[in-house]
Amino acid sequence: SDARLSDYERISVLGHGNGGTVYKARHRRSSQPLALKVFAAGDLSAAREAEILMLAADAPHVVRLHAVIPPASSPAAASAAVAGGEAPAALALELMPGGSLAGLLRQLGRPMGERPIAAVARQALLGLAALHALRVVHRDLKPSNLLVGAGGEVKIADFGAGKVLRRRLDPCASYVGTAAYMSPERFDPEAYSGDYDPYAADVWSLGVAILELYLGHFPLLPEGQRPDWAALMCAICFGEAPEPPAAASEEFRDFVARCLEKKAGQRASVAELLEHPFVAERDAAAAQQALAALVAEAEQGDGDL
Ligand code: ADP
Ligand code: MG
Repeated sequence: SDARLSDYERISVLGHGNGGTVYKARHRRSSQPLALKVFAAGDLSAAREAEILMLAADAPHVVRLHAVIPPASSPAAASAAVAGGEAPAALALELMPGGSLAGLLRQLGRPMGERPIAAVARQALLGLAALHALRVVHRDLKPSNLLVGAGGEVKIADFGAGKVLRRRLDPCASYVGTAAYMSPERFDPEAYSGDYDPYAADVWSLGVAILELYLGHFPLLPEGQRPDWAALMCAICFGEAPEPPAAASEEFRDFVARCLEKKAGQRASVAELLEHPFVAERDAAAAQQALAALVAEAEQGDGDL
């Protein structure tokens, strides 16, 4: 509980984002490998992320929080600071050796097949089910916020835009998260006011993310187009929902269509999607193995460089 930044040795950079920098690190005393997410001083998303990760400590498809590292220099002052609502300086997280799905896609240099994508979809849905049961919305689901283990395990990470809903229909259409993965109702809540469901936005983002894994590029804009805000908003709100090509299986096409239903009220819920044949439980082990094989392949490719 009285963790300090100096308890950790930084080994390499795993990723950058809005939140800060994530390092591959080692806990000096125990030698335990970890991911250390270091925030800019006073970053309030750090406090939000710590709160949600503590809430979701028992959810198997949410990245594990090992320690919250407070900002002040003396541990006693630091605990008081965090208890008083001051933002932590860093979070020590479980290290996910496969990195993010965005990184995996980049390392592979080609789109992913349906089988490993089914492993991503199923485990991300299990993660979302646990979060939603805790009244947590993620609001920034995308390939760079989904992490993979060597065995093809998938965990949801990066709760910098997350929110604990105090009331069931707490409006949360504010522009947090990455615009590209935002659902239509988050851009234009008034147009959807009758059936606003904050949890449905995470389902949309998951649909965009898994379609991206299948296509190998962001699905809502022509390949290579710079995703500026106006183009994205037009594509999301006024365009047809993107869909997998005809070559994809009927199950996959239907699964994506159920996620990318533009009317939030008609979109499938997490519980409904967990019953979908694309993510059938009897295929889960094989799907996870297929994903593990991709992680191994990417690691191999890295070694060859
Ligand atoms: P940000 O809020 O800055 O986007 P993230 O938590 O998404 O921060 O982390 C940024 C990147 O760092 C991720 O996309 C991923 O590549 C890497 N990363 C984050 N956490 C871990 C982890 N626990 N294990 C391995 N890689 C991680
Ligand atoms: Mg991120």
